[in-house]
Amino acid sequence: MSACPAAVLSATEPLPVLGRDVRVPLVTGGEASYAALDYAASAPALQRVWDDVAAYAPYYGSVHRGAGYLSQLSTDLFENSRAAVAGFLGCREGDQVLFTRSTTDSLNLLAAAAPAGCRVFVFETEHHAALLPWERREDVSVTYLDAPRSAGEAVGTLERALADREPYGPALVCVTGASNVTGELWPVRELAAAAHAHGARIVLDAAQLAPHHPVDVAELDVDWVAFSGHKLYAPFGAGVLAGRADWLRDAAPYLAGGGASRTVARGEDGSVEVEWHESVARHEAGSPNVIGAYAIAAACRALEEAGFEGLVERERRLVDRVRAGLAEVPGVRVLSLFGDDAPRVGVISFVVDGWNSSHFAAALSAEYGIGVRDGLFCAHPLVRTLLGGERDEPGECGPTDEGRPLSAVRVSFGAGTPDE
Ligand code: PLP
Repeated sequence: MSACPAAVLSATEPLPVLGRDVRVPLVTGGEASYAALDYAASAPALQRVWDDVAAYAPYYGSVHRGAGYLSQLSTDLFENSRAAVAGFLGCREGDQVLFTRSTTDSLNLLAAAAPAGCRVFVFETEHHAALLPWERREDVSVTYLDAPRSAGEAVGTLERALADREPYGPALVCVTGASNVTGELWPVRELAAAAHAHGARIVLDAAQLAPHHPVDVAELDVDWVAFSGHKLYAPFGAGVLAGRADWLRDAAPYLAGGGASRTVARGEDGSVEVEWHESVARHEAGSPNVIGAYAIAAACRALEEAGFEGLVERERRLVDRVRAGLAEVPGVRVLSLFGDDAPRVGVISFVVDGWNSSHFAAALSAEYGIGVRDGLFCAHPLVRTLLGGERDEPGECGPTDEGRPLSAVRVSFGAGTPDE
């Protein structure tokens, strides 16, 4: 396999991404360069990821299922990708890295693996992918925590809730690292300390954090972390769940099928008896998405090479600039849970007086070629809290008769966003 020609990446410059030169039609009849301001939904692929995937694609083969050269190569690349992700996340000895389809899939996998009787604690402000998977287990109970108004209040709220629980039995806290609505950073290290002080485990939803900040599992002292490739500049349909092996090893396989099973035999009574793997294979039944895993590893390497220090600093300047610009537009209100001074990543949601958010977003696209998102961002309770009221009509995006907005506009950016 030929090595990829690779320019040295530097985080002081925007990282090269695909889609920079895409021209889109405007309603006026002309066209414009597409302005990708929806990184929080799906970030454009890093050019480096694309190049790595293109260099590997001709050598694509089955993983763990073939004796031929291309199968062996694909198996090596798949397992090396696992190791690269473990390095990127600062995993501890004994941690497992599982390739999934997405953050949603990763958190559903962990929910399926949580021990019976587990008590789960989750803030109502979470993305639905982190809020909803736990309720599906009848033998798991969920405590929903009210939206805190500061990082300190988040820690206090969690501590009180954990102190109230019976001091035995498994417990799990699920928390985001950065909000997909406000971009605000959550105090993960402090929440992890609170969880562990009360004998609970913690899983970090890093879907919005990992593309913008280093995520070090050992340093943050979180038990698991979940993220999606398509938000980390690697849009090939894969995600990651990484962390402690014990709950995963003890749980029933997430999917039943080939790859997860070590041996399968007919029992004397005619039934089928299965011995499942204990390793990561237990939860990776079926042929894995080797391109997706390889792309995630390529993105991890590219981000590490560019250096998060520069990425974080450049993005902080971009956030300040966008917020300052929005502050000058009459009638714009930026949504914030923790206040103006809270540290945040490049995700900013706002409402515009008198404007229906979906019309506003549609106008940005049709008239200027700017791609943003509008709505409640799969975080309905949080957005309702931020907008100061209940959503009146399902499917309505407001504003209401009294002028209160029912949804918001979100701009989001990252490593590929130009500075000027
Ligand atoms: N968590 C957060 C904070 C998110 O922003 C998202 C997606 O927007 C998810 C989880 C779910 O990610 P995915 O749709 O890739 O499963």
